[in-house]
Amino acid sequence: AQPLVIVRDLQKHFPIRGGILGRTTAHVQAVDGVSFSVRKGETLGIVGESGCGKSTTARLLIGLIEKDKGEIIFDGQALGESLSLRDLRRDVQMVFQDSYASLNPRLTILDSVAFGARVQGLDEPEDRARSLMARVGLDPDRFAHRYPHELSGGQRQRVNIARALAMSPRLVVLDEAVSALDKSVEAQVLNLLTDLRREYGLTYIFISHDLNVVRYISDRILVMYLGEVVEVAPVDSIWQQQAHPYTRSLFSAMPSMDPDNRTKVPPLAGDPPNPINPPSGCRFHTRCRYAEAVCKSAAPRLGALPGAPDHLTACHLHDAASGHSRAGMGIPA
Ligand code: SF4
Ligand code: MG
Repeated sequence: AQPLVIVRDLQKHFPIRGGILGRTTAHVQAVDGVSFSVRKGETLGIVGESGCGKSTTARLLIGLIEKDKGEIIFDGQALGESLSLRDLRRDVQMVFQDSYASLNPRLTILDSVAFGARVQGLDEPEDRARSLMARVGLDPDRFAHRYPHELSGGQRQRVNIARALAMSPRLVVLDEAVSALDKSVEAQVLNLLTDLRREYGLTYIFISHDLNVVRYISDRILVMYLGEVVEVAPVDSIWQQQAHPYTRSLFSAMPSMDPDNRTKVPPLAGDPPNPINPPSGCRFHTRCRYAEAVCKSAAPRLGALPGAPDHLTACHLHDAASGHSRAGMGIPA
């Protein structure tokens, strides 16, 4: 089956203006040549340190910001060609971390949720909103006429989910959507999201810094570093083998990782390099303990691991095709 979303060579550089004339003096390479696809009905988790380009990728996908280069193909139609931004926005909804900022403080919960149904010109928008409120666990009789500030963070996030569903989206992008919630509330909202995905036949892109949360909800995980994809794989596969040294460091920093299973990877040294002037070759080479001369001069390409066509990584350690492969040298399989 054709993927719901295909992203090819997506690029977004943000200009930095300086001096009294406000001229562009440099660019932040927020997203630099990102490619991936999302299958219908799956959840793709995106992880990486803050500033790696996760949120920028999400905002590009829903058309909140405009790409410099690359292709976004939604259900077989290219954005900017056969697909307009308006059409895309009808099919894609986003839920953000800040549940309060996403809601209009002057609208009642019912009006917030009904808004989507009204925009679409659906009949009986209020009835629809009430049933969606009930579905996300907010008793409409109790909550319909309340305002966002009268709700808890978890309740507000349920409102945001109901509001997104009212638009009948096909893809929902969740950017740190549960990160501000208490652990117990987080688990409830994750379960709700899992059920809704099945019921409504939704596809999710789930962005989070929390690997355990991403593991719980995702079918596949994509790892970003400094604006690039360094690894993408099914959850079980990446949980068994982190092929990229960066992924390995990220996983080994997880507090709840079983100590027996933890490979002895020292935590990441230093901060990520400046995205205005990223390192040459492999962008991770300044922090990678396996780096060799080739890593500084040549950028590794995303390719499948031997015998695992679904498990891709961009690292010379695994790049047999380039002739630089050092698989088995130092990095345990
Ligand atoms: Fe490390 Fe080289 Fe692989 Fe980059 S390409 S992650 S520097 S071994
Ligand atoms: Mg972010």
